[in-house]
Amino acid sequence: MFIIDAHLDLAMNAMEWNRDLKRPVMEIREREKEMKDKPDRARNTVSLPALRDCGAGLVVATQIARFVKRGSPLPGWHSPEQAWAQTQAQLAWYQAMVSEGEMVQVSNKSLLEAQIKKWEDNTVAVSDKPVGFILSLEGADSLVNISYLEKAFGYGLRALGPAHYGEGRYAGGTGTEEGLSEAGKSLLKEMDSLNMILDITHLTDAGFSQALKIYKGPVWASHHNCRALVNNQRQLTDDQIRILIERGAVIGGVMDAWMLADGWIRGVSQPKAMGVNLNRLIDHYDHICQIAGNADHVAIGSDLDGAFGTEQSPYDLETVADLQNLPGLLKLRGYKESDIQNILYKNWLRFLRNAWN
Ligand SMILES: [Zn+2]
Repeated sequence: MFIIDAHLDLAMNAMEWNRDLKRPVMEIREREKEMKDKPDRARNTVSLPALRDCGAGLVVATQIARFVKRGSPLPGWHSPEQAWAQTQAQLAWYQAMVSEGEMVQVSNKSLLEAQIKKWEDNTVAVSDKPVGFILSLEGADSLVNISYLEKAFGYGLRALGPAHYGEGRYAGGTGTEEGLSEAGKSLLKEMDSLNMILDITHLTDAGFSQALKIYKGPVWASHHNCRALVNNQRQLTDDQIRILIERGAVIGGVMDAWMLADGWIRGVSQPKAMGVNLNRLIDHYDHICQIAGNADHVAIGSDLDGAFGTEQSPYDLETVADLQNLPGLLKLRGYKESDIQNILYKNWLRFLRNAWN
């Protein structure tokens, strides 16, 4: 079945993890066997061939670079200009993948329809089908000032989440209580005029409320689970889920294990011991579907290889290609075929068609 995954940090993996995503997952693992610089070395799950194998013909792919003030405990760049330059390196990698025919950028409705058509065409071998990507910026720190948004829109940026982890220049992120800064409010107005997609993932509760009041355009939660099941500020409350449903939003279920299992301790807990498999993700889907009364607002926003690998992913997922097991698991949980298609890709597709009308 065709799949749309709305959150993958592909260029971050290429440029900061030094992964050649043109290669198979197992080959990348092999090359990292002796590397000790990051906890997820040789535990990667994503590559372009694996995405093709699982029918993920369209993904939302990020640019991501944080600015940190002196004394911040988080890793990041020491100036917004450096953060911007990092995102430009990431952009250059995506563009090189496009030149090689590995990927294709999707930034408007006709490109979207063309990409869907290409993947529906059974006369083309899967290996000849490029992975489509919609460019999104995770955390807006790298926009040196608001005029940079228009530059980014020019090269195809279509979605933006103002916040990530920690203090942000435009909005407080996960782990803080801060809402939008004045610059953040101006940024949203500028995004509105460009009809960009606002990604509310990583906003604080205060930021969530402010953003949804200010923003009039399309809103999604690219990679987000439920606070009622795993209690953390990073997750959506039931009220927030209701507000998102009213706005016609789609919520991408995230597969980072700590957001799937209550009591997960990073670097200590193990997926198997904690019972983290794809069924835990479906628990979050169920919760949102119960609130919505339908399956029109949940989808995939895996975040696989988002600075974690198999040590922090569902244990029944060896590579991203195993997302293809979701339809069978959803069926066992009582989802009907049309709902399974909605979750795997049709909800994102409907959202994008509406947003880009
Ligand atoms: Zn994230």
